[in-house]
Amino acid sequence: MKVLFVAAEAAPLVKVGGLGDVAGSLPPAISKLGIDIRLAIPWYPEIDTRKWQIRQENGYGVTVLGDTGIVTYLLAPEVFAKAGEHQAILATKEEERWFAKFSIAVVELVKTSSWKPEVLHANDWHAAEALAELEKIDRETLQSWGYSKGENFATLVTIHNLSYHTKVLKKAIHSADVINAVSPTYAREILTHEYAEGLQKELQARRGDIYGILNGIDYRVWDPAKDEMIFKFAPAYFQAGKAENKERLIKELGLGGERGGMLVAFVGRLDPHQKGVWIMVNSLERMVGMGVRVVVLGSGDRKAEKILREMGAQFSGRVSVTLKYDEQLAHRIYAGSDALLIPSRFEPCGLIQMIAMRYGTLPIAHAVGGLQDSITEGETGFLYADYYSRGLVRAVSRAKKVFDKDKDRWMRMAVRAMQADFSWGKSAGEYVALYEKALQKSS
Ligand code: ADP
Repeated sequence: MKVLFVAAEAAPLVKVGGLGDVAGSLPPAISKLGIDIRLAIPWYPEIDTRKWQIRQENGYGVTVLGDTGIVTYLLAPEVFAKAGEHQAILATKEEERWFAKFSIAVVELVKTSSWKPEVLHANDWHAAEALAELEKIDRETLQSWGYSKGENFATLVTIHNLSYHTKVLKKAIHSADVINAVSPTYAREILTHEYAEGLQKELQARRGDIYGILNGIDYRVWDPAKDEMIFKFAPAYFQAGKAENKERLIKELGLGGERGGMLVAFVGRLDPHQKGVWIMVNSLERMVGMGVRVVVLGSGDRKAEKILREMGAQFSGRVSVTLKYDEQLAHRIYAGSDALLIPSRFEPCGLIQMIAMRYGTLPIAHAVGGLQDSITEGETGFLYADYYSRGLVRAVSRAKKVFDKDKDRWMRMAVRAMQADFSWGKSAGEYVALYEKALQKSS
């Protein structure tokens, strides 16, 4: 089976968030199952031609994805050269025009390449126009593009987040043969008014074709036993490893406080619509009052950045705020913190809880979407139900009780979290089954 995986970003070539992680690690896992899978992403100016050895061909670039061997097409360079650095891309109409052109380049690739994908796997809204275009294609046209008589063509769209460019995504939901969301719970949630972002009717109409597959994380990137950015450790010596990483982090960020006191972190985009930023901000003072130290790493909403900067100054030594994207610091925070706060209003899957668990850092999370599917309450983390500061503060206080008074239980939880399996193996198999389903539907 030949599959073209289309995304807006893919680590290590380019990444701003979880989609970059997924597009960089899911195709290699699918390839291990014997599927001939290739990747197509935009050719952003920050993708360095020399560093990645890019060959130019028919107006696009061809390279491989890091050391995975996955062939990667870099499309529409003329469009994205004008768009500038990927990190600066915001949710604008202009962005929709760039990706409409990206979609044309995707269709062009399917049409002209000698390698003929049978499944086009689109991610989020970016290739929606390509799906709409390809929906109209009949067998005769396919053959005029070089497909053989027996070859089929089908499409799948994966919903990573409904809240961006929802109108464009609507087209993809309408056009794709099969749809999946990035966790079983989110796949159910998006059928409800509360989470459908206005697309309830469209999603309900396709409910028989919607599946949920939990994301995984790349264990080659996120492995505390091999991670060069931290003091390496494994479950067998969790306590010593965590203590050393915590000590280093406290020193680096200039935090004070009691040596053994609990250290919690927030890592992520400062997006108030999704990430529960105000809930975290409104809980900070009470957490500090409990004797908890807080580390924040994130960037995004300007107002949130301003308030967090002020709170960092007000609670200096207790709250550390770093307002930027910093991959290395993120690794040190996952390794050095005791717990990770995830107060998201909705979370399609979320990777940070899986990463944190891998580093023996227990998530304290709002019980929604993929958080609910990946964290086991009282076993590998702490889940809470109500989306208010009160809910978060109570959960932190509950976690702190275990941390302070029942060290053995905390350690057992952390080790269990480190040993939980969030590798891609199982989910990759589920994607292959969906590809087969899509091909059956379109035949
Ligand atoms: P989303 O995709 O909604 O942003 P996820 O939890 O799925 O959230 O993935 C976020 C990814 O981006 C994780 O790999 C996380 O470590 C990384 N990340 C987010 N913000 C930052 C930051 N400020 N610095 C470094 N890494 C970050």
